[in-house]
Parts: sequence; C-alpha cells; structure tokens
Amino acid sequence: AAVIVGIDGPSGTGKSSTSKAVAAKLGLRYLDTGAQYRAITWWMLNNGIDVRDAAAVADAAGKPSLVSGTDPAAPTITVDGQDAAGPIRTQEVTAAVSAVSAVPEVRARLTELQRGIAADGPRGIVVEGRDIGTTVLPDADVKIFLTASAEARAARRSGELSGKDRADLAATQAALVKRDAADSGRKTSPLAKADDAVEVDTTELTLNQVIECVVTLIEE
Ligand code: C5P
Repeated sequence: AAVIVGIDGPSGTGKSSTSKAVAAKLGLRYLDTGAQYRAITWWMLNNGIDVRDAAAVADAAGKPSLVSGTDPAAPTITVDGQDAAGPIRTQEVTAAVSAVSAVPEVRARLTELQRGIAADGPRGIVVEGRDIGTTVLPDADVKIFLTASAEARAARRSGELSGKDRADLAATQAALVKRDAADSGRKTSPLAKADDAVEVDTTELTLNQVIECVVTLIEE
C-alpha cells in the first residue's frame, strides 16, 4: 500500500530538505504545506487584504486557486495560475504568514486541499508542515517531529536567505522565535508533536544523517 509520511516541526530544523530528499529516495510524492500557507498569504498581500483583520482574511480564504506540484525533484506552487515559488519566500510574506495561518477558515480550506492531494495521487507521499501528524493526516503511517536548538535553526535559516532578505543572525533568530511562538500559540491546530510521532533532534546531526534516520524509520 502507498505509504503516507507526515514530517512536522518548527522552521530551520531541516524539514524541507529532509522531506524532499526522503521522498526522492523512496520514490514518493512530496507536499510542502508551508508553501501553501505562504502562497495564500502572498495572494492576500497582493489583493490589499489587511492580514491582521481575521474577518477579512476569513472572507477571502476561498478565493485564490492554489495548485501544488508534488515531484520532490521540482516542487511547484501556483496561485491563480501564477508561479509563486519565488515571491512566497520574501520577508514580507514570512512576517505575515503566521497571522493568516491562524485563521480557522484558511486552515480548513488548506487542510481539505492537503488531504485530497495525499489521498488522490499515485504512490505514497511525504507531507511536511506543522500540524500534519496531529490534524491533517492523523492516520499517517509514519510521523516524524524534527527539532533543533534555536541557535542551530537560526544559523541554518540565515544560510538559506540571500540578498536583501539576509539579516544578521540575531535578527533572524528573533524573527524565527516569534513565528514559532505564534504558530505554537494559535488556537486552531497549532504546531505540535503528535503523541505517536517520533521526535528527532537534529541539532548535532548533518542533513545526510537526518535523511538516513528518517528513511530507516519509514522502512522499519
Ligand atoms: O514551513 P514554512 O516555514 O514555509 O511555513 C510557513 C508558515 O506556514 C509557518 O510559520 C506557519 O505559520 C504556517 N504553516 C502552518 N501549518 C502548516 C505549515 C505551515 O500553519 N502545516
């Protein structure tokens, strides 16, 4: 049967790199749910919606059309047919995404979309996010929760940023801690480890070690 894998955790734990590599190694599809929350946030910003106005965000939640490509070698995301892969990584979107993600109508819409993608396609899938094991796919075959120290996460994230988005390490760490606190503190499906998830602390591990560890957990 097609294996369903959920990988959750805060940012900077190597979640995306790990999820993509594991999916590629095992011939599974890959879904980045964070990219979907970012894409809907990008659309809200482009359409003049005040992201702090939860009622306005809720009203607009159903409007943009989102399509995610699930090839781990070349994941894609479009919003109303427009390629959103680049613009969803800007600091502007990163700063606004937690507020948009906290709105229950946004979560309900994306959760439904994610369940459909996981169930519909050929082969199994690796789905990464914050609430996959607890809410989106509670019956997943394998659940992983990645963690790392705040220092390690900030160092990794700052290495990923480029150009004008490259802030100093302290600013990166502050922004990351703030976003994790918002994601963990929201009422609707907050960032959390499912009771039956395996926690992997990646602080002292290389990316390859984390990938090997997750592959082993799936093949067990
Ligand atoms: O993983 P990434 O950092 O791209 O996620 C961006 C944001 O999307 C998170 O900070 C969180 O607010 C939101 N998110 C979520 N639930 C998920 C995935 C992401 O709320 N399953």
